[in-house]
Amino acid sequence: MISNFHYKALPINVYFAEGASKQVKSILADEGYRKVLILTTPEQEKSGLKMVEQLGELSAGVYPHAVMHVPVEVADKAVAYALDHDIDCCLALGGGSTIGLAKAIALKTGLPIAAIPTTYAGSEMTTVYGLTENHVKTTGKDLKVLPKVVIYDPELTLTLPAEISASSGMNAMAHAVEALYAEDKNPIISMMALEAIKSLYQALPQIVAQPQDLAARKQAMYGAWLAGICLGSVGMAIHHKLCHTLGGTFNLPHAQAHAITLAYSAFYNQNTDIPTMDLLAQTLGGQSHEQVGELIYALNQKLGIPMALKDIGLPEDGPAEVARITCAKPYYNPRPYDEQELTRLLTLAYQGLPPA
Ligand code: NAD
Repeated sequence: MISNFHYKALPINVYFAEGASKQVKSILADEGYRKVLILTTPEQEKSGLKMVEQLGELSAGVYPHAVMHVPVEVADKAVAYALDHDIDCCLALGGGSTIGLAKAIALKTGLPIAAIPTTYAGSEMTTVYGLTENHVKTTGKDLKVLPKVVIYDPELTLTLPAEISASSGMNAMAHAVEALYAEDKNPIISMMALEAIKSLYQALPQIVAQPQDLAARKQAMYGAWLAGICLGSVGMAIHHKLCHTLGGTFNLPHAQAHAITLAYSAFYNQNTDIPTMDLLAQTLGGQSHEQVGELIYALNQKLGIPMALKDIGLPEDGPAEVARITCAKPYYNPRPYDEQELTRLLTLAYQGLPPA
């Protein structure tokens, strides 16, 4: 039986092709932009300089100061720089951190964003922004920060190291898995979520084996795009709450924290909506909902992702503290929050033991 639902599509112009970033000048000119500031991290400044050549007279240069989690001081300087240079568009070339800086500028100035994503994090498909002040990250939603144009060029991901590709890909998978049991789930997003999971499940092991395999890169980017739409369209649940605590309170690296924790949060929910969880298990190469947690754990092992939260910076008292914070102010979840059970599972995740 079809359930009732509400679905609202976000207005983004998407280009997806190998080499698509070489068309950046004509794409941005068609959008009416005339003076475009390219944002990158310091590590990707060289790629930014190449983009200056592609943009020709539309380029207002590179601003290579994006860092993880958008500290307020970094955002304020970037806003001042953008206002001083009379630009009409910010082009974010990079992962979630760079797109996050473009969003901070858009929020304050209303300047439109074009994005060329080079990881699988999915921020380019959402209206969510984040800012960090005194080690506290606050997030909000605003249509102003949604990119107007997104150019996916899988060739640009060939330089993303295998281990970052693997955890970034599992970060994308987490968006899709949680969309399957979101409070406001709907049929089109569930379809996209399963397609995203299938694409990532197939592509990521191949990327780890052969990082230069362009077909696998293209398939992973396709999955990441779909997963980003899921993140931008429906609400998230226990997994994202746990990861926001791991990142916000314990400063764990974003993509790795998502990758490790997904096996345990999916395990926690695997008996909730059994037909959907059976489908998820089958998409991950298994049979039954009872295998969901272990299938994700096994995929992480295959991808060579660090398996234990202790290895990426969680202290020994972390599991109980994360469970306490999560249950004190929970997001929606199809299964009620159980602090004791979560402490037990997070202790397994801390040690890198399989979910059980
Ligand atoms: P990132 O943007 O921090 O990138 C990680 C590192 O990889 C950086 O040094 C970057 O320069 C480098 N890099 C990126 N692409 C590369 C490539 N193709 N080749 C070589 N090096 C490359 O990491 P991320 O995981 O993409 O983003 C994490 C941030 O994004 C977090 O702050 C997270 O909160 C945010 N995020 C926000 C949303 C949202 O909807 N607002 C969604 C997902 C993530």
